Amino acid sequence: MRTCYGYTELLEDLLKLSEVYKDKISIKITGTSVKGRLLPLIKMGGGNKKLLVAGAVHGRESVTSAFIMKSLEELLKSGCEFAEKSLYVLPMVNPDGVEIFLKRDLPQVTVKDFKGELFKNNANNINLNANFPFCFSKVPPKRQGGAKSASEPEVKSLIKLCEKERFESAVSLHARGNCIFWRDYGNKAVKGDLELAKSFEQNCCFEIISPTQKVEDYSGGFENWFRCRYRKPALCIELVKDEDISFSDMIINFEEAVIWEKTKNLLITYLNFS
Ligand SMILES: [Zn+2]
Repeated sequence: MRTCYGYTELLEDLLKLSEVYKDKISIKITGTSVKGRLLPLIKMGGGNKKLLVAGAVHGRESVTSAFIMKSLEELLKSGCEFAEKSLYVLPMVNPDGVEIFLKRDLPQVTVKDFKGELFKNNANNINLNANFPFCFSKVPPKRQGGAKSASEPEVKSLIKLCEKERFESAVSLHARGNCIFWRDYGNKAVKGDLELAKSFEQNCCFEIISPTQKVEDYSGGFENWFRCRYRKPALCIELVKDEDISFSDMIINFEEAVIWEKTKNLLITYLNFS
């Protein structure tokens, strides 16, 4: 069992998956990070309805990448077919942030009180989930969204991918809360958002919480930008319920941290939702 999950581990797992399931998946590179790390995208299925799953937008949440890779392997092992859909997976949106969190790299810029273990930003010390062009002027400085929206290469790559593929919906995985953020007051209702959120609640035991009210909390977020841009559902799912477990410990036994027995059906739930 792996006790840490970073960029190297991700590349190793991607290589293994692509060897075993070469007829089932394809892997492309959608861009590079600030420090030049590759941003891989896994594609499965050839249907017209395109679904997106993204993980590790925040560096300290590499548990989401481990979860995605195991979920994907289980899905492939099950041999399940889905004719009308295609699944697009970005397992690690912020590889520099993950490596910095794991203390295997340092930020590009000076970071005050830098310790590493709570690091969530990218190598420019910008919070990618506050850097998207949605109500950007309302992002409070403490959320570290940067001086300009979409300034970061990781954000640019994700926007470019969404513009090209025009996904039906998107799910972004984060680590703490075991809940689903599914609507915000800025975008209001988006057709199908509650139904998709309910499906994850029923099948994976994540709790649906109230729509995000404060613009300071939802401005600059990926899922919020997606809702605004495409008027389609985009959810943020927080995988880890335990508030006391540290981000480093989450990865030591990630199946326990994410309560795998309850959450393992996330991808199949998403694919079965129509
Ligand atoms: Zn997060």
